[in-house]
Amino acid sequence: MGRHQIIHLLRKKLVNKYMIWDRCSSFLAVSSNVQRSVRHASEKSSSGSPPSNDFDVCIVGGGIVGLATAQELIWRQPNLKLAVVEKEAELSLHQSGHNSGVIHAGIYYTPGSLKAKLCVEGLELAYKYLDEHNLPYKKCGKLIVARNEEELPRLDALHKRGLENGVKGLRIMNSDEIKEVEPYCKGLKAIHSPNTGIVDWGQVARHYGKNFERLGGSVFTNFEVSNFITTREGKAGSKDGLQHPVTLQAKSGKSLRCRYVVTCAGLYSDRVAEMSGCSKIPKIVPFRGDYLLLKAEKNYLVNGNIYPVPNPKFPFLGVHFTPRVDGSIWLGPNAVLAMKREGYKLLDFSLKDMIDAVSFSGLRKLAFRHLGYGLGEMYRGFNYPAQVKLLQEYVPDLKVSDVTRGPSGVRAQALDTDGNLVDDFVFDIGAGGIASRVLHVRNAPSPAATSSLSIAKMVVDKVQDTFEL
Ligand SMILES: Cc1cc2nc3c(=O)[nH]c(=O)nc-3n(C[C@H](O)[C@H](O)[C@H](O)COP(=O)(O)OP(=O)(O)OC[C@H]3O[C@@H](n4cnc5c(N)ncnc54)[C@H](O)[C@@H]3O)c2cc1C
Repeated sequence: MGRHQIIHLLRKKLVNKYMIWDRCSSFLAVSSNVQRSVRHASEKSSSGSPPSNDFDVCIVGGGIVGLATAQELIWRQPNLKLAVVEKEAELSLHQSGHNSGVIHAGIYYTPGSLKAKLCVEGLELAYKYLDEHNLPYKKCGKLIVARNEEELPRLDALHKRGLENGVKGLRIMNSDEIKEVEPYCKGLKAIHSPNTGIVDWGQVARHYGKNFERLGGSVFTNFEVSNFITTREGKAGSKDGLQHPVTLQAKSGKSLRCRYVVTCAGLYSDRVAEMSGCSKIPKIVPFRGDYLLLKAEKNYLVNGNIYPVPNPKFPFLGVHFTPRVDGSIWLGPNAVLAMKREGYKLLDFSLKDMIDAVSFSGLRKLAFRHLGYGLGEMYRGFNYPAQVKLLQEYVPDLKVSDVTRGPSGVRAQALDTDGNLVDDFVFDIGAGGIASRVLHVRNAPSPAATSSLSIAKMVVDKVQDTFEL
């Protein structure tokens, strides 16, 4: 038995002995010490390359999905040497830091789908995590409001769907009951979901990252992965390159070596997947969502989340009223094609991203199918009084002078070549060589923030299975 195998066995034995600490903070100090000593042993055993740059698994993308995955992996396998790499200077600057901040209950999704299951589970796990770590949130509830008779059958169908999905506490309210919950809201009937909440998902994602580092993981920011290459072997006869066959090359020229990679690259998940030889499809098309901000003196108009009954003909949920944990109230978002991935301003533009999007047949097909809806959304994006008019159907006292333009977010919408929105999670892996060591999470659509802890469990199951860790 070689020196490496002996050390590997010792690591496993030591760590398994302390596996019981998993998620139990009183044992964290013990586990960290064990980990540190294990890491030291493995570093000594490596073949002369800088020890801090060699990892068992690297996770690309420091958004909520990448960070939850990293945290879950270190919870389950504290013996592994793990790293997260993120292209920005800080974690969670994109979708995870630019969203509505809603803890979704799981009403909308097709019964039996992964999305439904992961959301309902994810909500429970999220509340538990927030409580355990003292992170601020509010269970302010949500109304899905039918404005007229025509919307009632869709409201009833949605209620049934929510019950099938196991969403707790749902009930139908009449117009008087609506007023008890939301005195300024007008509606014929509504679904009330008392367990829907609000939280700052960016803060939660950064907490996952801190926790991961506290447990011994490494986080590298300003590390934009530009390629996956086979690690070059060292001098003749040395084992250099055999232990960590994948080199992550960063745009800056830095590199890391690892055994396996998991990518969770959000708006760039298609381009990152292509780097290891995977297909261009599903393609990411960026859809910007602009919010309006309610002036603070008008905050009394809204208590909790107020949502429309979604029209199944259209791809997004529709504009809504969302209180934030900081006390402000956001209205929106709309959904318009963004002229730049990660372009948060109305006129942000990237020629590469635009050519990429409009030359894709899937987007053209989607645009053709939803031309009227798309043009309406664009019009309301430029002309926000038109957006307010739509919102007044739910809160008639709202005036154009009560709002200002607010922040924006960009959704990574995965599309297939027929222009269908890819609704569920997509894993992808290349064939042969190092490509078979790089697993891509190509689509983590809303409510992936709510579901982040349950998605992480699913991703880590897949990682352990695929890589036999
Ligand atoms: C407007 C909007 C509203 C939403 N509202 C809600 C909501 O209320 N509730 C909810 O549950 N969900 C909501 N969502 C969905 C949720 O925010 C996302 O599904 C979730 O944040 C996706 O997380 P992610 O980690 O996959 O992506 P991201 O947060 O985008 O993270 C991906 C990370 O990968 C990094 N990266 C990309 N390429 C590279 C590279 N080459 N090298 C290194 N790093 C790279 C990026 O910089 C980024 O930090 C909303 C989304 C949007 C856009």
